[in-house]
Amino acid sequence: MNIFNDSVQFLKGVGPQRAERLRKLGVRVCFDLFWLFPHSYFNRSNVSAIADIRDDGELYHIKGSIVSARSTAGRRGHQLFRAWVRDDSGDVEAIWFNQPYLANSLKPGMELLLSGKLRSDPGRAGFTVSDYTVWHQSEEKHAVLPVYPLTAGLNQKWLRGLMLRFLQEHGADYPELLSAELKAQYGLCDIEYALREFHFPTDREGWKAARRRLVVEELMLYRLGIAAAHTAANAGFVRHPADSALRHQVLASLPYKLTAGQEQALREILEDMSAARKMNRLLQGDVGAGKTVVAALAMAQAVGNGYQAALMAPTEILAGQHYRSLSEFFAGCACEVACLTGGTPAAERRRILQASESGELDILVGTHALIGEKLSFNNLGLIVIDEQHRFGVRQRALLDRKGAQPDNLVMTATPIPRSLALTFYAHLELSAIRELPPHRKPVKTTFVSFEESEKAYDFLERRLREGRQAYIVCPLVEESEQQDLQDAIGLYEALSHNRFKKYRPELIHGRMNPAEKGAAMQAFAGGQCRLLISTTVIEVGVDVPNAGVILIYHAERFGLSQLHQLRGRVGRGSEQSYCILLGEAKSAEARQRLRAMEQCHDGFELANIDLRLRGPGDFWGVRQHGLNEFRLARLEKDTAELNIAVALSDNPQALSLPAPELNRYIKARFPDGDEIANN
Ligand code: ADP
Ligand code: MG
Repeated sequence: MNIFNDSVQFLKGVGPQRAERLRKLGVRVCFDLFWLFPHSYFNRSNVSAIADIRDDGELYHIKGSIVSARSTAGRRGHQLFRAWVRDDSGDVEAIWFNQPYLANSLKPGMELLLSGKLRSDPGRAGFTVSDYTVWHQSEEKHAVLPVYPLTAGLNQKWLRGLMLRFLQEHGADYPELLSAELKAQYGLCDIEYALREFHFPTDREGWKAARRRLVVEELMLYRLGIAAAHTAANAGFVRHPADSALRHQVLASLPYKLTAGQEQALREILEDMSAARKMNRLLQGDVGAGKTVVAALAMAQAVGNGYQAALMAPTEILAGQHYRSLSEFFAGCACEVACLTGGTPAAERRRILQASESGELDILVGTHALIGEKLSFNNLGLIVIDEQHRFGVRQRALLDRKGAQPDNLVMTATPIPRSLALTFYAHLELSAIRELPPHRKPVKTTFVSFEESEKAYDFLERRLREGRQAYIVCPLVEESEQQDLQDAIGLYEALSHNRFKKYRPELIHGRMNPAEKGAAMQAFAGGQCRLLISTTVIEVGVDVPNAGVILIYHAERFGLSQLHQLRGRVGRGSEQSYCILLGEAKSAEARQRLRAMEQCHDGFELANIDLRLRGPGDFWGVRQHGLNEFRLARLEKDTAELNIAVALSDNPQALSLPAPELNRYIKARFPDGDEIANN
């Protein structure tokens, strides 16, 4: 059989209807079945007698038959499903929350394995089920039973049976990438053994070895996929060989000296740009480290060599800010700069499109508008992407295709922990600006609970009276019935009518149109408005050095990296600035994170703490980078496996599969090759 091509439909006992249902679980061809992993397991060896379970907060596993079952309405509209379950020692009422449909599948007489906790508090007394499976005598011989994700029309017993047979009959068809030597070197088991053992573990040790091998396999395939896509995208190149007078001119006009970190980063970039290959470089630097000027000098180098340069930013506010900075950098130079966003008026837009196509325009700054179909370049030689993790791979690729293999510089202020960088940026060279420009003071950061918010506002007002400006950040735009959180519009209305009125508050959020946003930003940047009430739209790029306080509502709800970004809006001048984290810290994790914000001012360290506490899924706050593509690998923990995967994927010649088959295998696991090639 060919596991990559053959549909599961033709496996014994499947057929067209069940194949359709399996498809809902992401299974099309036989290969996918191997990677349909159990989400949990039932271990028969640690089942407790019902008479022995206690309401002590411990998780118990019990086994018993259903005596009676019913659906009921609980308090506050909860739907409950309740079933009395009995074993030889006694009985207990099992309770499922919000799963009334269980009444259709769980009937008296059925045998169940249940995991859950016993509770005795009124209203919900009983065995609260967190996981369950129907128990079938035919599966008696397995000590540990896999529990698979299901969909309507597929049941656990059938799927288990299918898996068991499938693994027995076709396990050997699965490709083995590693030679015996490599397996021995890294202490990895066979892939076939790993698959069988992960689906139907014999014991904990076997399961651990299986998981280890599969995590390595998954990370290795992911990295190999990036490398393959990257090689394909790198067929040609643009060069910027000559030293450029324009660059020297811009450099000479700067009101400050570059920091050592900026100089180093610039050197690395220029080296890449003059080399006979495409540049793919990530410039990392904490908020306020001064990445913009480095990018501007790289653009000067490109323009000085006769190319056009484009700078794409994720928000209009940021694009506008960059446009103003670049216009200043290039003032008095023979270099035409323009800005294109969704809000650019039609006439101006036409002019820009025309000038870009003809080559009259040297530098184009903008938002996603830069990837619009109508825009073309005459000779695009350098692309700079700011806050690159805000863009999808496709969007970056679309811009890339507007030139003939232009050099790429991507920038981020989000410090990337090593494990994420190794996985997702495998193909990028890294430059990092570690220090901030001189005379910056760390932002004094304090957590304040809601009960003390009056004090926080008094403090904020004192700073305003001293002539400083301030931001207030809210998690919501508008009042919401679902979430009891402060909204920006409501707060703006309140503050515009009380003692803060004289500071001319302005409002800014993502739902305003570009002109409104621009006007609010302008008023704040110009100093007429002293208090800006916003959502997290100001997270990136806003640069108003006189801003001395940022107050963040419900700070416990944000990731540390995001809080650090927000905090980076202040402390941009030489005066002391302040960050007030307003909120409630109920959980230990929340307290730990807020304390980290008070004590730590280093973005890299905060990023690592964030990754450890919240995991990579939350790291960028959004679904990105195929982070959710991993079925098994957990980047915050699987460091050892990642290191092995890096070693193996950096040396693909040593793998046992010839290139075409290897590519096939990678594609089977990560079908959307484009999606993982981070441009
Ligand atoms: P980021 O890296 O967060 O994008 P910016 O490029 O916006 O930072 O720079 C932050 C601020 O630091 C800007 O106001 C900029 O003018 C200033 N700056 C940049 N480089 C230097 C330097 N070498 N010395 C002094 N100030 C600098
Ligand atoms: Mg920036």
